[in-house]
Amino acid sequence: MYELSKNAMDFINDEYLEGLLKNTKPDEFRVREILDKSLSKEPLNVEETAVLLNAEDRELQEEILETARKLKREVYGNRIVLFAPLYIGNYCINNCQYCGFRISNRNAVRRTLTDDEVKEQVIALESKGHKRLILVWGEHPMYSPEQIAKTVRIVYSTKSGKGEIRRVNINAAPQTVEGYRIIKEAGIGTFQVFQETYHHETYKKFHPGNTPKSDYLYRLDALDRAMEGGIDDVGIGALFGLYNWKFEVLGLVSHAIHLQKKYGVGPHTISFPRIRPALGVEMDYPYIVNDEDFKRMVAILRISVPYTGLILTAREKPELRREVMAFGVSQIDAGSRIEIGGYTEAGDAQSQYIEKEQFELGDIRPLDVVMRELMQDEYVPSFCTACYRIGRTGEHFMEFAIPGFIKRFCTPNALLTLMEYLVDYASEETREVGENLIKKELEKMDDDGIKKSLIERLDTIKTTNKRDLYY
Ligand code: SAM
Ligand code: SF4
Repeated sequence: MYELSKNAMDFINDEYLEGLLKNTKPDEFRVREILDKSLSKEPLNVEETAVLLNAEDRELQEEILETARKLKREVYGNRIVLFAPLYIGNYCINNCQYCGFRISNRNAVRRTLTDDEVKEQVIALESKGHKRLILVWGEHPMYSPEQIAKTVRIVYSTKSGKGEIRRVNINAAPQTVEGYRIIKEAGIGTFQVFQETYHHETYKKFHPGNTPKSDYLYRLDALDRAMEGGIDDVGIGALFGLYNWKFEVLGLVSHAIHLQKKYGVGPHTISFPRIRPALGVEMDYPYIVNDEDFKRMVAILRISVPYTGLILTAREKPELRREVMAFGVSQIDAGSRIEIGGYTEAGDAQSQYIEKEQFELGDIRPLDVVMRELMQDEYVPSFCTACYRIGRTGEHFMEFAIPGFIKRFCTPNALLTLMEYLVDYASEETREVGENLIKKELEKMDDDGIKKSLIERLDTIKTTNKRDLYY
């Protein structure tokens, strides 16, 4: 038995959640009542979420999508935060059946970046304009909290030209409370652990053997231990395709409610990766989520868990990413390479690297192209890292919690980091699209002190070498 948090408990009751999905009748009146409630940003409970999940009527589904769109547009605004994943090592003692890094995959090319190689990858990422990374590891005794913390420090201290990484998030094996403390000291942002599936029997099937990951409760409790270790910025997630997607949504909502109740702060982000082809993995899973259901899923999460950021990754194809974004996504990765060393060693044809990859990506377009498309669709791409650096995290701040916050901080900071990108890294075409967008955004702002000071700072970035200006 591994160490658990204080009063650790298994808060997922499969029978109860299955019962809700089986017995909830989504009458029109009830669905509309819940959608109205959501517009005031009140979190939904699992019973209410089940009502939305069970709305199979086309018209009601359209209303759900429209509510999510409206929430995104009117409440959360049009910023999209950009990041890139950096895979550090793929040795793994677990045997997750869906993953190219699983121990039983003898054909995987195993590798851990050396300190110098980490620096090289970081410089390559900085040269494209990235400011926010998520570092990713398999699970292995080599990847101790000390090794993780050391890598984080190397990333922060590697600077080239005007480039620097200002926020490092982590997706690695669950740690002990002490392990999280050590990692926190290095100054991380979010620590992510995905439950993969909340359904106990399915969890067992996909995580066989006597491995750390085969223990459902140890995994479910992972972020409780993070909270006890002082990390109040955590990300949850489920791997869609292992079990019924509606059940997984109820699992995610239950998890968010559990953290909120026990620690007074919910998850900072939710991720919803869909299973992708990986080396030696048969993709004949019965619960593969189709695009229509995927859209419904994102919309329902947006509505149910209002203070939480939603992360849509490059596992998905460009066209779908573009469409799903409108339902309330707040962060995407771009220009991503997930083969180890991929930012300096891989070209565009990623499929030949499948032995080195955890799975195949759906969107491998360069950052500049994604930035341009976002702006043409009137999103404001943002590399903002201000909140975490000023200490606005945890119970004092959740992404969307405070009225007026977006206007005062998020939008100005997004525009400042966008201007840095346009001046330092963008292609000419992207720069032109971006400068027009900034103009339009400024026109939308009230003529007050914030706007005046913002215009001055934007000008400073354009005309001097001063960077990293934020509110
Ligand atoms: N090894 C750590 C763990 O499992 O928590 C962290 C890194 S793991 C590389 C990150 C996530 O990738 C997993 O939590 C899982 O959800 C996702 N993943 C694994 N195999 C996948 C596949 N074939 N397609 C899409 N996502 C996958
Ligand atoms: Fe290892 Fe994570 Fe892949 Fe599982 S999902 S095999 S723990 S890298």
